[in-house]
Amino acid sequence: MTASHPPRAVPFALPDIGEDEIAEVVACLRSGWITTGPRAKQFEQDLAAFIGGGVAGIAVNSATAGLHLALEAVGVSPGDEVIVPTMTFTASAEVVRYLGAHPRIVDVDAGTMNLTAETIAAHADAKTKAVMPVHIAGLACDMAAIGAVAREKNLRVIEDAAHALPASSGGKRIGTHDSDAIVFSFYANKTITTGEGGLVATKHADVAARCKVMRLHGIDRDAFARYTSAQAAWYYEVIAPGFKYNMTDLAAAIGLHQIKRLPGFQAQREQLAARYRAAFADLPVTLPPLPPAGDVHAWHLFILRLTPDAPLDRDTFIARMAEQGITCSVHFIPLHRHPYWRDTYGLRPEMFPNAEAIFRGNVSLPLFTRMTDADQDRVIAAVRGLLR
Ligand SMILES: *Cc1c(COP(=O)(O)O)cnc(C)c1O
Repeated sequence: MTASHPPRAVPFALPDIGEDEIAEVVACLRSGWITTGPRAKQFEQDLAAFIGGGVAGIAVNSATAGLHLALEAVGVSPGDEVIVPTMTFTASAEVVRYLGAHPRIVDVDAGTMNLTAETIAAHADAKTKAVMPVHIAGLACDMAAIGAVAREKNLRVIEDAAHALPASSGGKRIGTHDSDAIVFSFYANKTITTGEGGLVATKHADVAARCKVMRLHGIDRDAFARYTSAQAAWYYEVIAPGFKYNMTDLAAAIGLHQIKRLPGFQAQREQLAARYRAAFADLPVTLPPLPPAGDVHAWHLFILRLTPDAPLDRDTFIARMAEQGITCSVHFIPLHRHPYWRDTYGLRPEMFPNAEAIFRGNVSLPLFTRMTDADQDRVIAAVRGLLR
């Protein structure tokens, strides 16, 4: 007798935690040092070395914390404005409010879903202090063009690179452009994870120094080195009301091994994305754009866009996928549609024609490195069944 089992559910994402990560966490627990210490230091050094370009890495407990630190370090102050694309997670904009500054929420490119240099040029004015490009799905913004307009308009550049490890623009890895700071996320569903975590990468010694001090209560460790003898381990100086944003060694223990697996993860994601693209080429959808030749896409997300001639709308599509045990998501509900951002800044849908068009059809399909061919076959069959 054969029992008929329903096929296993396909989650939207799953962390890929190996035995090395588990052993390292256990070793960390046994070591007696579980908060910030040698593993966190090693993690930030290893990841900075992976990114390259001589960047310094400052490990923190989330990308949100890292973005906050980076904006603070470049002097974003009450009343300043920071240009933020509407097609992002609320974290990108909320950190601007933490500092009493205001996000200038702007539309994105209709094709790449990214912020463009032209949009920055059109919106920058005397109040604009900084700009925050977000590399949506892992497809990098055009950082040469954005860097040029930022120099011309005297804007600081803080990249929200939560999706972009590893990605490149103009042949240069994200993290190594001339931005003031670049912030990566290691949240559970990102391309590598530490459970929760983030990294600020920067080439600028002053930004790195300020982020390090503000990451841990405004304690100046250089003062410790300058004014005390090696024996006075108890001495420290507080130079600012800092934050509590340090990464623990327990989290870094996971990350140390995730870094080693990152090139393999990227290759797997590339392959999964290519397979989706080929399978959906004849459907009423817009496929996610590819990077320019020679550049790397991190493929954190695979965002399909249902076209107006699709046989069902986005919400129905997601519900029908869920009925078949397949979890999809939406990246993103644009910021201008959320009550807080809409009402605080008087944002109306007609100010964001491209994001509105994207939001009518955007759906993110499951994409994760533990995805099996059978998992992907199920997703492909379900998508084709609904859209053909
Ligand atoms: C995940 C994400 C963040 C926040 O990352 P955390 O590490 O969870 O703070 C910020 N911006 C974007 C675009 C994200 O997707």
